[in-house]
Amino acid sequence: MVIDCATVWSDCLGVIRNEVDEQNFNTWFKPITPLKSEGDVLTIQVPSQFFYEWLEEHYVPVLRKAIHQIMGPNGRLEYSVIVDSGNQKNPPLMVNYPNGAGTKRYPNQASNGVPEVYSPFSVKALNPQTVNSRLNPNYTFENFVEGDCNRLARSAGVAVAKKPGVTSFNPLMLYGGVGVGKTHLVQAIGNEIKKNLPEKIVLYIDQNDFTSQFLNALQNHKIQEFQNYYLQVDLLILDDVQFLAGREKTQEMFFHIFNQLHQSGKQIIMTSDCPPRDLKGFQERLLSRFKWGLTADLQEPDFETKLAIIHNKMQSDGIEISTEVAEYLAYSVDTNLRDMEGVLNSLLFHATLLKKEIDLELAKEVLKNIVKEIQSDVSVDYIQKTVADYFKVELEQMKSKLKKREIVIPRQVAMYFCKRYTQLTLALIGENFGGRDHSTVIHALESVEDMMKTDANFKNSVEDLTKKFKSRMTAS
Ligand code: ADP
Ligand code: MG
Repeated sequence: MVIDCATVWSDCLGVIRNEVDEQNFNTWFKPITPLKSEGDVLTIQVPSQFFYEWLEEHYVPVLRKAIHQIMGPNGRLEYSVIVDSGNQKNPPLMVNYPNGAGTKRYPNQASNGVPEVYSPFSVKALNPQTVNSRLNPNYTFENFVEGDCNRLARSAGVAVAKKPGVTSFNPLMLYGGVGVGKTHLVQAIGNEIKKNLPEKIVLYIDQNDFTSQFLNALQNHKIQEFQNYYLQVDLLILDDVQFLAGREKTQEMFFHIFNQLHQSGKQIIMTSDCPPRDLKGFQERLLSRFKWGLTADLQEPDFETKLAIIHNKMQSDGIEISTEVAEYLAYSVDTNLRDMEGVLNSLLFHATLLKKEIDLELAKEVLKNIVKEIQSDVSVDYIQKTVADYFKVELEQMKSKLKKREIVIPRQVAMYFCKRYTQLTLALIGENFGGRDHSTVIHALESVEDMMKTDANFKNSVEDLTKKFKSRMTAS
C-alpha cells in the first residue's frame, strides 16, 4: 500500500510540534519537504548538508518519537540533501542518504533483521561504485615483481584478493622496512578486489589520515558518522599502523572498528615497519588481534629482484635500458626502493623529455644528484673503520693485501658497503683497499651477495652493519 508521503510527514510534524518550541519548529522542521514514503522508509528533503547534520545532532530523539508513533517500530527516515540549489539553467543537485534505500544492512542490525540499536536515521550507505577507495590504480599485482624477498607476502595477498574475509588470513599483517613494497602490495590487493568484486567497498587509508579523520570527527561531534562509515567497508586497508603507537583514543576507535569488521567477516589488512611483537606503545588487546590472522614479512629485495624491478618499470614506460646500466643501478641504489623510484623517474625524465640516451654516464650523473644527499655521511674511512671494528680485525690489515680468510671477508664486506654508500667507482674503491683493480671489487661484491644467500649468520652481520650505516645517514 502506498501511503501519501505528505500525509505521513504532516502527521509526524503533529508529533514534533509538541516536542519543540515554535521557533525551532519553524527553523528546523518547516523547511523540510517530504519526498516519498515507501514501505517503512520515509524520505525527506532537507535544504543543506549543514541542515541535515544539525538535525542529526539535535533532533534524533524527537524524530525517532515521531517516526515511531506514525510509522510503527520499523519506521525509518532517509534524507535527500540539497548540496547545490542550482539556478535557472541548472537543476538542484542532491545527495541521498542512504543510497539504494533499505537494501543496505544497517551495521548494527542483527541478522534477524531487527535493529539492535534503533535509530530513525539510516546510515549514509556507501556506494561501492562511487566511494573513494583512495587507491592508486598504478599499484597492481602485474607490476609487483615477485622475488624471494616478498614471496610469502605476495601469495597471501593473492589469496586474500581472491576471497577477502574468507581465508584465515584475517587480518593480514604485512611488515618490513622502508620501501620494500608494503604499500604497493596492499594497494594491489585493493585494486584487484575492486576489479573482480565490484560490489565490495574497499578503503585504503594510511594511519596518518585515519588519525586526523578521527580527531576531526571527535572535535566536530561526528564520531557516530565516522564509525558508520568505517563499519560499512568490506576491505579495510590500514597502512603504517606503527604510527598509531601511543595514540590511545585512536587505537580505541580502531579496536572497535576492527572487532566489528572482523566479526562480520570483513577483511582487514595492515602494514607495519616491524612485526606485531615488536610494536611499542600499543594496547595489548590490540596487538593480540593483530596476530589473529597471518603475519608475513617483506625483505629488502635482493639483486635479481631489484634488476627485475628496474627493467619492469622502464619497460612499462616504453624505455629500454641496457643490462650494464640496470646492474649499475641495482648495485648502487640500495638505500631503498623508494629512492630507486626517484632515480628511475629522473632517468625517464631525461630520456623522454630531454631525449637523452640512458647510458652509464647519464645514470651516474642522475645518481649523483639524487643519492648524494642520502649517502653523504658515510665515507670510505667510516665504512672501513666500522667494518673492521665489527669483525674485530686490524684496520690496517683490512686495507692491506693480506690473503687470510678472516681478513678477506671483512675486506669484501667493506668494499660492498663502499659500493652501496659512496659515490666511488669500482676502480677507486679498489684504490682504497691497497690498490686493487676494479675486477677484484666486482668479485668482492659477488661473494658478499652469494654468502648472504647461503650463510644466515653472515647475512645477519651484513644487516647489522647496514643498520649502523643507515642510522648514521638518518641521524645527519
Ligand atoms: P613501503 O610501503 O614498504 O615503504 P612502497 O610500496 O612504497 O614501499 O614501495 C616503494 C617503491 O618501490 C614503489 O614505487 C613501489 O612500486 C616499488 N616496489 C616495491 N616493491 C616492488 C616490487 N616487488 N615490484 C615492483 N615495484 C616495487
Ligand atoms: Mg608504505
